[in-house]
Amino acid sequence: MDTKNKGFNTKLVHAGSYEDAFGSAVTPIYQTSTFSFKSAQQGADCFAGKSDGFIYTRIGNPTIKAFEDAMADLEHGFGGIATSSGMSAVSSVYMALLGQGKHIVCSASVYGPSRGVLERDFSRFGVEMTFIDTSDLQQIKDAIQDNTTILYIETPTNPTMQLTDIKKASEIAHKHEITVVVDNTFSSPYLQNPLVLGADVVLHSITKYINGHADVVGGVIVAKEENMYKKIRGQMIYLGGNMDPHQAFLTHRGLKTLSLRMEKSEENAMKVAEYLEKHPKVEWILYPGLKSHPQHELAKKQMTGFSSMISFGLKGGLDV
Ligand SMILES: *Cc1c(COP(=O)(O)O)cnc(C)c1O
Repeated sequence: MDTKNKGFNTKLVHAGSYEDAFGSAVTPIYQTSTFSFKSAQQGADCFAGKSDGFIYTRIGNPTIKAFEDAMADLEHGFGGIATSSGMSAVSSVYMALLGQGKHIVCSASVYGPSRGVLERDFSRFGVEMTFIDTSDLQQIKDAIQDNTTILYIETPTNPTMQLTDIKKASEIAHKHEITVVVDNTFSSPYLQNPLVLGADVVLHSITKYINGHADVVGGVIVAKEENMYKKIRGQMIYLGGNMDPHQAFLTHRGLKTLSLRMEKSEENAMKVAEYLEKHPKVEWILYPGLKSHPQHELAKKQMTGFSSMISFGLKGGLDV
């Protein structure tokens, strides 16, 4: 079903659904490693990329494709690439765009392993990196080098709830032909569409809001343009960080209720945040929905809601 011009909730339910031989309303779990061909010629065409058929599940699978297409539609990109975990999505993007002598500018406060894999592993392969506060656009300008290939942003960040202005950061990066990658895990496409704001690649740990039921670990990447999509997809296939059909089925099932879950969790988060903000034992609280959040105005501008993650500190610290 072509859902390109449909509303968000219609897309949640219908994007990535295809007719199969039995008229199945939901994409079945194609729990198969390999696909057979009707003829040697068809097989040869598939391998040569002349025909779109499925070959092998690491490369592509109907259940996984249904979820990837839904995500590409929701994030307004050319194509989706589902991965075994959120970190597999992050690493696949790094591997596709970094290399010996290349440089990445990265938010200092990104999800720990997204920074850790750069410092511990990519550094071993001669990749240069600068970690800065990307909420400060001047720091982005100052950090860019001739060999910079990625500006990597997470907004809001896990767990410090720091925001970066995606539109303005992208404008700066694009003057230098740098690819802008945004980890949109904490917003989900329901609240924020980085590709529409100017980013080139968006990724998610679907372990969080997209799947939403705490029973799947996974990731997804959506690229705005075909060339970038092919580059990252090719890398993911070689690295072998693909999603599994059963994982894709559960995740696509969870995705259908994204709006309802985002609405309810934000409503709850606002109540909790307001309670904590007034609590005598709370030293500080960061929630983009509170006026006290330093980037509350930016949150109102680039997100359509405040999501539901809160971080706060206790007076006197925590006895551990
Ligand atoms: C959890 C998380 C990741 C990593 O995802 P996994 O599915 O745990 O591998 C990446 N980025 C953010 C913002 C996350 O919250």
